[in-house]
Amino acid sequence: MVKVRFAPSPTGYLHIGGARTALFNWMYARSQGGKFVLRIEDTDLERSKPEYEKEILDSMTWLGLVWDEFYKQSDRFSIYKEHAEKLVADGKAYREGTAILLKVEKARDIKFDDQIRGFIVFNTDEIKDQVLMKSDGSPAYSFSCVVDDALMEITHVIRGEDHISNTPKQILIYEAMGFKVPKFAHLPLIMGADGARLSKRFGAVAVTDYRGEGFLPDALVNYLMLLGWAPSGTQEVITMKSAVEKFSIKKVNKTAAQFDMEKLKWINAQYIKAAETKVLTDSLLPILKEEGLLGDVFDRTWLETVVGLFKSRMSTLRDFIDRAGFLFVNDFSLSDEMKAELNKINFSKEFQVLADRLSGAAVFDHAATEKIFRDLVGELGIKSGDLVHPVRVALSGSNVGPGLFETMVVLGKERTVERLRRAF
Ligand code: GLU
Repeated sequence: MVKVRFAPSPTGYLHIGGARTALFNWMYARSQGGKFVLRIEDTDLERSKPEYEKEILDSMTWLGLVWDEFYKQSDRFSIYKEHAEKLVADGKAYREGTAILLKVEKARDIKFDDQIRGFIVFNTDEIKDQVLMKSDGSPAYSFSCVVDDALMEITHVIRGEDHISNTPKQILIYEAMGFKVPKFAHLPLIMGADGARLSKRFGAVAVTDYRGEGFLPDALVNYLMLLGWAPSGTQEVITMKSAVEKFSIKKVNKTAAQFDMEKLKWINAQYIKAAETKVLTDSLLPILKEEGLLGDVFDRTWLETVVGLFKSRMSTLRDFIDRAGFLFVNDFSLSDEMKAELNKINFSKEFQVLADRLSGAAVFDHAATEKIFRDLVGELGIKSGDLVHPVRVALSGSNVGPGLFETMVVLGKERTVERLRRAF
């Protein structure tokens, strides 16, 4: 049975690269009917932090990358010690003070068939005797990693390309312990738009940041999936189910993947547009409350209407604040840019008439507001577009948005009239 693992060190947040590694492991396990192990590699007691571990677990759960088994290396120190002692007893390792080192035989080629990159050869002349247990009693990364991969019966080690040079060292440890060597697959690096390795300098790298920005987990997963792998054709929006059916490690690219924010936003917009308005409303509630735009008591039906009007006009959930925020405030003012836009033609009188008539409307719905508007435009002998534009700016503070009459209805009579009255 296929068994893979994601083995993050809780020395920082789960970043985009780590999430992509986790996802490819998860997809491979699911595509093979295998198991996915999450192993927290917290052997570095100084740098590992419980808050990072928690954040990694939260981000994995948020992304939907559920694991079948869970381990923490800090619970397993006695296991590593025992295996290191055995290697000393077998004459394959030796003590240096309180540390234990593996003897590395010189002038040997270590060759492995990387599932993505093909055969890779290292010569042991480049490899020093390997520290297995450090003098403080903690295991070295490669040692605890190999002991665990062997005892957990990991069949495929899928990880970032930055670990390629660790692989021959780890193969030597497998051999010394008489364990079966798993298959290895090293994923290409992820580069920023500038061609440099993805780093803090590039902007958001933590999954949490994308969550906070208002990316939907399914959209982020969809995007991460395309970083180094593509289903047949140029299909970009792909469900997890069909990705799992099509996924193949051998089809993962060898060359670096480039992180493309615009593409991620485009994919996110597709997911937002396709989301059920009710569900989207639930996702927006925390952001609206955090921004102070919504109190504990609100009109859910009204809110869903607003979300429905804007859902095809946003790339992230945060965009909703920028685009629809004008509907959630009473003290509303125009930016200088929009004031200038509005003042291109002085519609002061026309606005007052429109305000008076709207204010007198018995019902304030789409049909009624449209009729009042069109009658006025007819009387004035102007094109309706000439008036639509400034009215939209006056009501919403923006020159783009949903239909004008839908906007008036959700804004409500009082605020519509008031904004028209004080526009000029
Ligand atoms: N703890 C290692 C890391 O976070 C895991 C490497 C591996 O997958 O073997 O880079």
